[in-house]
Amino acid sequence: MVTVDRRSAFKLGLAGAAGVAMSQIKIGTSHAQAAASTEENPGFYRFKLGDFEVISIQDGIRVADGPHPTFGSDQEAAEVAALLEANMLPSDKFANGFTPVLIKAGDDLVLFDTGFGAAGQANGLGKLKSRMQAAGYKPEDVSIVVITHMHGDHIGGLMENGAPAFANARYVMGQTEYDFWTAPDRLSGPTEGNAKAVAANIKPLAEKATFIGDNGSVVSGITGIAAPGHTPGHMVFNVESAGKRLVLTADTANHYVVSLQKPDWQVRFDMDKEAAAATRRKVFGMIAADKVPFIGYHMPFPSVGFVTERDGGFFYTPASYQFDI
Ligand SMILES: [Zn+2]
Repeated sequence: MVTVDRRSAFKLGLAGAAGVAMSQIKIGTSHAQAAASTEENPGFYRFKLGDFEVISIQDGIRVADGPHPTFGSDQEAAEVAALLEANMLPSDKFANGFTPVLIKAGDDLVLFDTGFGAAGQANGLGKLKSRMQAAGYKPEDVSIVVITHMHGDHIGGLMENGAPAFANARYVMGQTEYDFWTAPDRLSGPTEGNAKAVAANIKPLAEKATFIGDNGSVVSGITGIAAPGHTPGHMVFNVESAGKRLVLTADTANHYVVSLQKPDWQVRFDMDKEAAAATRRKVFGMIAADKVPFIGYHMPFPSVGFVTERDGGFFYTPASYQFDI
């Protein structure tokens, strides 16, 4: 019988744990460097959902000051910092990702949102088209472009040098959103900049667009749900194939810790802050109750995850192997 001295076993355990921690730190550093170098980061993530193929594509990452006061704009900075620190995140800088989604649904190739387009490329954004091609699809293969709402980081990639960037596509967009941004009085005041972007990128495509409302269909298995607040006509999409389900939440929640754990905290980019909070509770309450995965446009790449309801908010769990087994 072999007896093990408890103290040496404990020491051995400590040494082992320290060894693992050291190697993780090294891996973490080289991974961060790889992510900064676009050649080594494929920037797309593919999985099967029933008979559909889903690919989330990273248009780019933007590092900014914050999250406060953009997130938790009605809270004290220290309160937001404490929440971030409790979740192992810095409180002075954050990385915001932009994630259009491509779905192969039968004969259709459906693209949800278009990133920044060519105008973003000087800032390391606008990578959707090149990464889509790396994933095996050409821009002209896209048969339908769906616009969740009409902010610049979603509609910037629609037009290129005055022509449609997805030459063979038709479009699906929310009637409420279109009516809001194209009303003549939006071209002055705080809505001016975005209304001009809509005039340049959406208006030329309007005659090839189908305008939908709550429960509007995109293709068989993909349905829009009105989710107002972030913008007046913001929509999320329910995706179902062969008994599997996924929700595309677009900009319902835009920081995976702050917006989900504290859904009522105000966000600067939400045009109607109370409606946005109510929509967060409704949409993520449904996703938590139904235990279905979601893709959020600004969730950390590959932006696919789950939420559980806890402490009056929602906790994010990134997807791992759920789609592989
Ligand atoms: Zn956005």
